[in-house]
Parts: sequence; C-alpha cells; structure tokens
Amino acid sequence: MAEQPGLVVVGHGPAGAAAAQAFRELDGTTPVTIIGGESLSCYARPRLPEVVAGQIEPGAIRLHPDDWYAARNLNLRLCLDAVSLDAGRHCLLLSNGEELPYRKLILAMGGAPVQPPIAGLPLENVFVLRTAEDALNLRRYSQGKQTAALIGGGLLGLEAGAALTRLGLRVVVIEVAPWLLPRQVDQEGSALLQEKLIPAGFEFFLGAGVSALEQREGQVVIRLNQGLEIKADLALLSAGIRSRTELVQGSEIKTNRGILVDDRMQTTLPDIFAAGDVAEWRGTVAGLWAASQAMGRVAGTNAAGGDTHYPGLVPSTTLKVAGVELCSQGDIHAPLAQTLVRRTPENWVKVFLRDGRVIGSIQIGRTAGALQFKRLMDLGLSVIGFEAALLETGFDFNRIPGFHS
Ligand SMILES: Cc1cc2nc3c(=O)[nH]c(=O)nc-3n(C[C@H](O)[C@H](O)[C@H](O)COP(=O)(O)OP(=O)(O)OC[C@H]3O[C@@H](n4cnc5c(N)ncnc54)[C@H](O)[C@@H]3O)c2cc1C
Repeated sequence: MAEQPGLVVVGHGPAGAAAAQAFRELDGTTPVTIIGGESLSCYARPRLPEVVAGQIEPGAIRLHPDDWYAARNLNLRLCLDAVSLDAGRHCLLLSNGEELPYRKLILAMGGAPVQPPIAGLPLENVFVLRTAEDALNLRRYSQGKQTAALIGGGLLGLEAGAALTRLGLRVVVIEVAPWLLPRQVDQEGSALLQEKLIPAGFEFFLGAGVSALEQREGQVVIRLNQGLEIKADLALLSAGIRSRTELVQGSEIKTNRGILVDDRMQTTLPDIFAAGDVAEWRGTVAGLWAASQAMGRVAGTNAAGGDTHYPGLVPSTTLKVAGVELCSQGDIHAPLAQTLVRRTPENWVKVFLRDGRVIGSIQIGRTAGALQFKRLMDLGLSVIGFEAALLETGFDFNRIPGFHS
C-alpha cells in the first residue's frame, strides 16, 4: 500500500534541516521527505570561504553525517528539485518527473545571489559564491591567478576576498556604497576596517558603481561609472541575495521580496509554511544562518501541530577577515541614537543607546564583551549610570541590575 502523504520540506539548508528535525521531535511517525537541490546534505555555508581557500573540503562542513537522517526516519532526497506546486491538489512536481503529494509543506528554498543588471554578464571568469560547487569552481579558477575584483564590499564579499588573498591573489574591492559593510558598520568603523585590511592584500574603490564588464585577453575588465577601468584575472559578484520564490510564482501564496509568512511561519495558504532566506517576516528577509534555523524550528513545530511563534532575533554578525575580528549586532543605523565609543590599540568599540538601553554595537579588533552586549539588547536593560564604564576592558556586566537573572 502506498505511504500516506506526510510532511515535505523543499530545500535542505539550515531552515529546511531545522524544520524537519523540529517536526520529527514532536511527531515520530508521520513520513517526512526532504527535497534538496544540491548533491551535499546541509552544510555550513558561512564556512565556504575556507573551501575557497583550500583549507577544508565541502564534505567536512556538513552538519550531520549521512546516517543521521535515516536514524530519525527522515527521507532525504538530494540532487532533486521541486519544479512546480499544485497547492489545490497538495502535490509537488519534481525534476525527475515524479509527483509528490504532501499533507503539510515547508518551503525552505533559501536565497540565490543577485545578478545585478550590469552590461556584459555573464562571463566565464565572473563568479558568485553561494554553494559548495561555486566555492570549488572559484578555488579551481583562482589557481595561479594574481588579481581578483570583488564587486560588492559586504560581509560575504570580504570573507571570500580574504580567502582569495590566502591563495595569493591581490583583491580589489569595488563597493557602490560610500563605505564597506554598509549594513553592519558605520563610516567610522569602515575606515578602521579598511586600514587593517590594506596590509593583507586588499585595495578599495568605494562609492564606485560598475557600469559594464567585458573580457579582454583572458582578463575581466570592470568599467566604473566614473569612467575608470579595473582589470583583474577574475571577478566575484557579491551584490546581495534574492529569495528563491520561483516555485510559488503563479500559486495563491503571496510574495513580496520573499514568501510572506506570519509569526507562526505560515504562508497565506493553510498547510504551507516557509522559513529561512526564502521567507519574508514582518517586512524583512533575514539572510542570516541563525535566523533561518530559528524560523525553520518554528515552521517544523507548527507543521507538526504545535503552536509557537518566531520572536525575531537581534541581528548579529561576526566576521574574521585576515586576522581582523568584527562583530556587529542590533540596530546600528537608528537615527538620533546616543553613541559611546572607545578606541585602544587593540580594539574599537561603539555602542548605540536609545532611552538608556543598548540597541546596537560594533566591535573591531577584539570582540570580547559581544555576548554581554547582545544580552543587554535581548533583555532591554537600562544602562543609565554605567555609560562611562560600560566599554572599559573587564567591565563587570553583573553590576547592571537584572543582567545576571
Ligand atoms: C559564503 C557565505 C557566507 C555566509 N556567512 C554567513 C555568516 O557569517 N553569518 C550568517 O548568519 N549567515 C551567513 N551566510 C548566510 C547563510 O548561510 C544563509 O542565511 C542561510 O544558509 C540560509 O538558509 P536557508 O535554509 O534559508 O537557505 P539555503 O542555505 O540557501 O538553502 C536552501 C537550499 O534549498 C535548495 N533549493 C532551492 N530551491 C529548491 C527547489 N526548488 N527544490 C529543491 N531544493 C531547492 C538550494 O539548492 C539550497 O540547498 C553566508 C552565506 C554564504 C553563501
């Protein structure tokens, strides 16, 4: 007798993996099928720069060994895409022609690199970095090369750039914003970061838009809006991500930047949940690992009949590039926030306060204290009276009423 339709999870990144696991923890018997488009089971994308640098192979960054799934009675099917959705019939069409019915569906297709509308694309020596396969392609092509251009000076770009400097390439960063990591640091922090990265082999063109790319004598020529041309052996496009909503286009599931979900990660259709980089929750697509996992857990729990809500996470980013540590948390762009700054030879710390409460922090150099700042943000504690001491090395956060409870 054919198996009864159970839970189907589309996408096997951290959101899909966490969703399947949370579902199974509440429901030990309903069949669970995970459809993953890549050949590798869920792996730590944030470690892909190490794959680019040749420090590690993709198999070593998988979250779980192969037998982990079978041990939990999770049917993991890789190298397979869901290509269309018939929500009326509760059925997916897979890339091998199979129809897969579901009772509940969790959509966790993640994100894909944005392909900016630059004239000349695609080119064989212009890369993106999202998957293990991308990382291996980039690593292979970089062998023996001398220069790389990074189009986009965000977090992912800088980490990939650092991997390329480890392979011996000089890296030119081209960023349209007036400073680096515009989402994570302010102008002052960016200037400091730049200062620290130049000796590691980075060069920067900030406030520079790319108007066209072309291939000339084996090199990629990057034409900037200002008329300047930069030549490199390869370029890496790192212009943000877009949610992979293709599967639900034409269905009744509402999308904006991502698939719209409520606090329970429910889409606009019953029985269908979404989580991770494909989901838009309260107007934002998180684009972060921890948030994707947390959303996945909420979706899996609710699909199994539980009732839990996604609380949102304080955005938190850490970066280690060429020996420079950076940690950015919370809201660092709030208008009219009060700021506290401390600079020592080893580190630079900036804390953003509103109504006497910490709402954001940036640390460059040593990032000790980051967990404590995060806790202050999570708890919303007042730090009035501690402003002068808060950034001192070794400050005892337990002095703040409510901190240790
Ligand atoms: C190089 C790099 C560095 C990063 N560094 C950090 C970091 O330091 N900190 C941080 O918080 N975040 C970081 N991120 C972002 C983080 O990895 C993502 O936010 C997270 O992976 C999103 O998880 P997800 O499960 O939503 O989607 P994904 O991880 O994108 O997984 C989605 C999966 O679904 C598959 N899929 C898509 N469509 C289909 C379909 N139709 N059928 C079947 N399968 C499908 C995809 O192939 C993919 O395997 C980084 C990302 C990259 C690429």
